[in-house]
Amino acid sequence: MTYDKHYYDGAWQASSGTETIAVISSATEQEFARVPRGSADDVDRAVKAARRGFESWSRLGVEERAQWLEKLAAAMKTRVPLIAEAIAHEVGTALGFATKVQAEFPIMMIGMNAKFIREAKLEEELGNSLVIKEPIGVVGCVTPWNYPLHQAVCKIGPGLAAGCTVVLKPAEMAPLSAFMLAEAAHEIGLPKGVLNIVSGSGRVVGEAIVAHPGVDMVSFTGSLTAGRRIASVAGDGIKKVCLELGGKSAFIVLDDAPFEKAVPAGVNNCMQNSGQTCSAWTRMLVPRLRQEEAIDAAKAQLAKLTLGDPFDKNTRLGPLASAGQRDTVLGFIEQGKKDGATLVAGGGRPSHLATGFYVEPTIFANVSNTMAIAQEEIFGPVLSIIPYDSEADAIAMANDSPYGLAGGVWGGTPERALDVAKQMRTGQVDINGGRFNPLAPFGGYKKSGIGREVGPLALEEFFQLKSIQR
Ligand code: NDP
Repeated sequence: MTYDKHYYDGAWQASSGTETIAVISSATEQEFARVPRGSADDVDRAVKAARRGFESWSRLGVEERAQWLEKLAAAMKTRVPLIAEAIAHEVGTALGFATKVQAEFPIMMIGMNAKFIREAKLEEELGNSLVIKEPIGVVGCVTPWNYPLHQAVCKIGPGLAAGCTVVLKPAEMAPLSAFMLAEAAHEIGLPKGVLNIVSGSGRVVGEAIVAHPGVDMVSFTGSLTAGRRIASVAGDGIKKVCLELGGKSAFIVLDDAPFEKAVPAGVNNCMQNSGQTCSAWTRMLVPRLRQEEAIDAAKAQLAKLTLGDPFDKNTRLGPLASAGQRDTVLGFIEQGKKDGATLVAGGGRPSHLATGFYVEPTIFANVSNTMAIAQEEIFGPVLSIIPYDSEADAIAMANDSPYGLAGGVWGGTPERALDVAKQMRTGQVDINGGRFNPLAPFGGYKKSGIGREVGPLALEEFFQLKSIQR
């Protein structure tokens, strides 16, 4: 799985330097692949290729672009086992989940963008004006490691469909699926300069993409810290930014909810991908009088989520993506204990898994919403159960967060759950077990970001509006 070249201008290109990045398996702690460590020179060449590619790609008919996306999806389908294996190593995702959610799902989303652009209304008459949606130009994409292919596809899919060309920098920790995307693009003969990939660090390659005058828009997913920096560098160049910056999402279990369904659903949501999910419901708000019942149900569900080797078919939760991530999460767990939260499950490193970046799935109860474990994004398998005294109190606590990405409500009736959902300041809310919908826009309020990804409405981010008066 080692790659020694970047991909731009429709070809594999030697890196400007000789440095490489080791990709580490989160289960074995051993290097299992390498990719080039690019520079600003590589970015410059890739952006120039994307600019040239934009001239013809943006003028191609919608139907032709849609067909290219379908071909790309078909070429990626043949790579599902390789993608899943790579991401199981990189991120620690259990192989079964990696196959479905890290590989098959984003590939399906590439194809869905073909449908979205075919159905998009690109011209509208308004009074004496013809208002046209035009592709914004070259899009710089910077992506994180937790769902590496999905995050890339959320940008590349609608971007290419809209008629933009892209330059992508994948995360150093999980770059391989981006290279597989380049292989698929090359195999189908995607026109030159449409999809360009340069690997390297955020500080060097990421910033060079964001700052490059040939880039018209930046689409980023990752931490608040990097998002702030990217927004300010892009701001200097008056570039549009789309930011998806994580969350601290609340799941409100109302007093008339069926706890036997709601609590396990909340635990599963929080622990998915070992908690390395920006939309995870990491705060479970329960009525104070039923907290003990919630704790018992949560512990019972947690016991079903076997922690282990991502390649073992019985594993539900694998290790964390890196030693740094493991140490950060363990630091938050210690902070929770110090702040007086009640540890009801987990709480450290598992003694039976000495090798690999494992952390026990952990539940705290009696958490106050002001504690660090309730306010900061931990990005690991840590659930905080927070008792509340009234529905108004629950809603206020759910909204008392710097973030607003996702959330959930479970109530005795859908009407009551909907009423509460409407009062939550967050981009998505699932009520009474509502499933993830690949048509629904995804993105955040407050410090969770700017803009929306996923579904037909994601296309809008990649358009400029032109008004022609007649
Ligand atoms: P970062 O935000 O640091 O990294 C995300 C991507 O941005 C990576 O490709 C990174 O490069 C790049 N990057 C970093 N700094 C810059 C910069 N100044 N200019 C341009 N690109 C940059 O996230 P981490 O991976 O370090 O994770 C840290 C925390 O972020 C997690 O613990 C979690 O809380 C949060 N996070 C949130 C995610 C989400 O989905 N919202 C996803 C991942 C993380 P490089 O490869 O060098 O790191």
